[in-house]
Amino acid sequence: MGFVISSIFLSPDDLIVRTRWYVYLRWFILLVAIVPGIVSLCIGYGWGREVQSGLMFGVIALSTNAVFFILSRLLKNKTAVRALITTAFSIDIALITYFIYTKGGIESRSVLMYVIPIIMSAAIFGRKGVYASAFMSMLAYDILILCNYFGIFYSLDPFYAYLQTDFAYVVNTIIFFNALFILISMAVDFIAQLLISKERLATGRLNELVRAQSVAKFGSWEWKRIDDVINWSDELYDIFGVEKSSVPITFEQYMSYIHPDDTKLVNDEIRKAAVGVQSFSFDHRIVLPDGKIRYIYSNGQSYSDKKGVVTHMVGTARDITENKLLENAKNDFVAVTSHQLRTPATIVKQYTTMLAEGYVGELTLHQKQFLKTIYDSNERQIAIINDLLNIARIDSGHFNMTVRRTDVIEMLKQIKSEHLGKYKSKHQRLVFKPNYKNVFCNIDSGHIKMAMENLLDNAHKYTPANKTVRMDLKRRRKGVTITITDQGIGIPAKDIHKIFDMFSRVENPSVLQEEGTGIGLYWAKKIITMHGGTIDVTSEHNKGTTFSIYLPYKAAKD
Ligand code: ADP
Repeated sequence: MGFVISSIFLSPDDLIVRTRWYVYLRWFILLVAIVPGIVSLCIGYGWGREVQSGLMFGVIALSTNAVFFILSRLLKNKTAVRALITTAFSIDIALITYFIYTKGGIESRSVLMYVIPIIMSAAIFGRKGVYASAFMSMLAYDILILCNYFGIFYSLDPFYAYLQTDFAYVVNTIIFFNALFILISMAVDFIAQLLISKERLATGRLNELVRAQSVAKFGSWEWKRIDDVINWSDELYDIFGVEKSSVPITFEQYMSYIHPDDTKLVNDEIRKAAVGVQSFSFDHRIVLPDGKIRYIYSNGQSYSDKKGVVTHMVGTARDITENKLLENAKNDFVAVTSHQLRTPATIVKQYTTMLAEGYVGELTLHQKQFLKTIYDSNERQIAIINDLLNIARIDSGHFNMTVRRTDVIEMLKQIKSEHLGKYKSKHQRLVFKPNYKNVFCNIDSGHIKMAMENLLDNAHKYTPANKTVRMDLKRRRKGVTITITDQGIGIPAKDIHKIFDMFSRVENPSVLQEEGTGIGLYWAKKIITMHGGTIDVTSEHNKGTTFSIYLPYKAAKD
């Protein structure tokens, strides 16, 4: 009952829905009152006048409700529905009064039957309804008592006898029951207001969420996998440019909105997420009904039942078209400009080399020193341009990995020997003492080597003289973990989360005095992630930093 009442309170504006609820509740109350009533009359009196009149009463009550039921379905106009419901209330109050008159209980629990229309009117008409129906009930009840006292009609109930002779008793009863009606209606009103205020709060929050979704251009979804039912928030229909329908969409329908070139990607991501309880995120394109393309960032979480079967997934989808187009423009810009810059930078390199090699005559020592500075700067410039080009390629998806079986131990040894000179010149130790002779991984060795070199360069740059940098490798079940540990300046905790971002450098004099662009780690992370690996960092300010790289034996894109 509590549930029914609160459910009715939960849609304060929908009079038509509430009216239907009233009619349903009437079915319920009538059946609960009539069937056991007639059965008990049959048991008590056998088939006779009592039962027949009870049956007659029941049939009339149920048929009026049938009429209400039909009208509540047909009427769409609020005024007509209001008139219908007022009639139903009036009939109910009259019926209750008639019941009390014929069956007795004028001073007992039968009077409580008036509470039903009071509660119902609270639900349907709100505050005014409660007091209006309480007033109508009081009026009907008082008229009944007064008519009985003045002999206009008499009830069969023996209790009515007192109420026919003793005026003080009549007044007493009227005051008591009227006060009871008022108290009950106040209590109902109080509960109704409480439920309505809670509901308004919830609706307010929901509206805020809907507004936030629309501003942030993201919507939420839930996929009940077992029933293949996808529920979308309103914003998602807007993002996909699809007309909102009362029928939930299916997975097949959802896939039909995905850009043909991205269906495999979406399918693969969903298939991976359906293997166990896990979160997922990926970008993809969709095609709107008018043929326009939008970029979407989808993320979610899968949930499974006790047997581990993924039963549903929930998540959000965000329209990232504007960002994506900007990003594409940025990538194109970086790609084109770095490409344009590389040619003259390479020419500078060729000519400085030729100069240094004495093609146009012998150089003095001083000239050679100047040339060396030009050469080194040009090398750095080319390295940066190459980094930028690689990033542009990765970000635009045009980066091809050449995966080969590579001995990682051998690769690390080679990197170490190439870096030893640099380390020695700063009086640093570079240690690599592998526990294995060979460890083979299927990787793009050229790019992984560049990522490792970048980490070793950083360790060298950000570690003072006379300190040690260690490289280690550990075999894991499905891959290897390579660690590079230095005893350098460390990374402050507040900055550690951003060091893998593009162009990110720690605002620290010891960092800024070193040459750097803030590209290296961004690029290294991209490369390692493309292999299906991970890169993590732990650091203690002024104590040292450890980078841990996990690489699967078989690169993910292999
Ligand atoms: P950069 O060219 O500046 O070295 P990176 O992307 O390689 O660019 O590194 C980003 C930033 O992370 C650096 O500027 C530095 O602040 C910090 N960092 C990277 N490696 C280390 C390290 N081994 N010790 C301390 N700080 C580091």
